[in-house]
Amino acid sequence: MFNWISSKIKSTRAAVPDTPPSTVNVMTSEPPESTTAPTIIPRNQHPISRKNISDNALKVLYRLHKAGYSAYLVGGAVRDLLLDRHPKDFDITTDASPEEVKKLFGNCRLIGRRFRLAHVIYGRDVIEVATFRGAHDEEDQQTSEHGMLLRDNVYGTLAEDAWRRDFRVNALYYNIADFSLVDYTGGLADIHSKELNVIGDPRERFMHDPVRMLRAVRFAAKLGFTIDRHSEEAITSQGHLLKAIAPARLYDEGLKLFLSGNGLRSFELLRHYGLFGTLYPEVDALLNQPESDNHRTLIENAFRNSDARIAADKPVTPAFLHAALLWGVVQQQLHSEQGRYNSPVEALEQIGEQVAGRQQRYTSTPRRFVFQAREIWTMQQRLLRQQQRSAIPLLQNKRFRAAYDFLLLRAESGEPLQPLADWWTALQSADPTAQQQLFANPADNRTPRSRGPRRRKRKPAAVTAPADPSD
Ligand code: ATP
Ligand code: MG
Repeated sequence: MFNWISSKIKSTRAAVPDTPPSTVNVMTSEPPESTTAPTIIPRNQHPISRKNISDNALKVLYRLHKAGYSAYLVGGAVRDLLLDRHPKDFDITTDASPEEVKKLFGNCRLIGRRFRLAHVIYGRDVIEVATFRGAHDEEDQQTSEHGMLLRDNVYGTLAEDAWRRDFRVNALYYNIADFSLVDYTGGLADIHSKELNVIGDPRERFMHDPVRMLRAVRFAAKLGFTIDRHSEEAITSQGHLLKAIAPARLYDEGLKLFLSGNGLRSFELLRHYGLFGTLYPEVDALLNQPESDNHRTLIENAFRNSDARIAADKPVTPAFLHAALLWGVVQQQLHSEQGRYNSPVEALEQIGEQVAGRQQRYTSTPRRFVFQAREIWTMQQRLLRQQQRSAIPLLQNKRFRAAYDFLLLRAESGEPLQPLADWWTALQSADPTAQQQLFANPADNRTPRSRGPRRRKRKPAAVTAPADPSD
């Protein structure tokens, strides 16, 4: 499917001899001249069809165009359509100011203080319309002591807008005026070679906005692209800059990394580039310890399961992944401090609160998800203990399903809990007679590989299921 791209790039570039996009030097510290002529691919030479653009996005593009403004589809939508993928959303850019956009659309809201954006609202579908952004020379901008951009709100030309975007593949434009594609930076070549290149000098661009490093990992994971060598080096040496990013923004980026259907690959790449520790430092430290395979397996399985659910269009909650990511840290602390608490439940509640609280300094997870994660943890103890009639009301608990799934995840990841998981699985579909049988035969977690003696244990099992079943 890429043949059209390589042949068209060559032919169109020949017509635009001055500085074709492929000669852009990624290591240059100077942004290329915004007057550089773009490569323009006419409609009959590229595969993007209006059939694949949402009706609402088309409505916005057409209305802007009819009112005399230029209007382009841009960013992930163009990139994903070229890769034959379904875009997550359709972003539009225009030379109309936000106020002018608002005048054109009754269903429009202006948002953002740093940079005003127009949201055109069609029920639950929101089309974001951004005015061309200028100030591609980020050095001229006001920066913090870490070199991060603080103000970035100057409108510009289409060319300036292209050069200030993060990656070349994200700076492709679909022009509604003639349905052509516009490429200033070499994004089409990158689509072809499946490589992610930062626009400009990666070190500088990452310094100005360190979140771009997380975005690089996200796109590499999502698109199956490689990250170019210079950007890789810059990520490896500058990952620490992410420490200056507000926990709320890191939470948002983490969500996109982990819950967009490529969570496992994103996790692996974050670990590979040494960035995972900026999001979940205690988990990262735990995974760096020898003999942490069981924790890694549980996290990987959690991502694998949630990726599969997303692929099957099933709902996923950030709370479950949060619980899975931090479970190893909770267990480790339980292991070293259990003697300090009156009961395993109290230990789990207190330690769960502490671990979740410490994590908030890095990714500020909404409170409801933090509570849900803690409930999933404490419910683990109830699932261990309540294998009598009192198990029935637990089935109605609004957190039962997540806690049960978490128990399955633990069993699947090597904790000796499979008999218990099977017991709860059976209970959910048991008729009253089968229920009585289950109550008479609670799962014995100390002997997970055999069914074990059919006696109820006197002492509640420890919260951390023993690694060695003979313990
Ligand atoms: P997705 O498929 O996740 O929506 P996307 O590329 O559309 O991917 P968005 O976060 O929706 O990503 O951003 C839209 C566009 O805005 C990007 O494609 C990119 O051109 C530009 N952009 C977003 N964040 C940055 C950033 N931090 N620095 C520079 N450009 C950015
Ligand atoms: Mg987008």
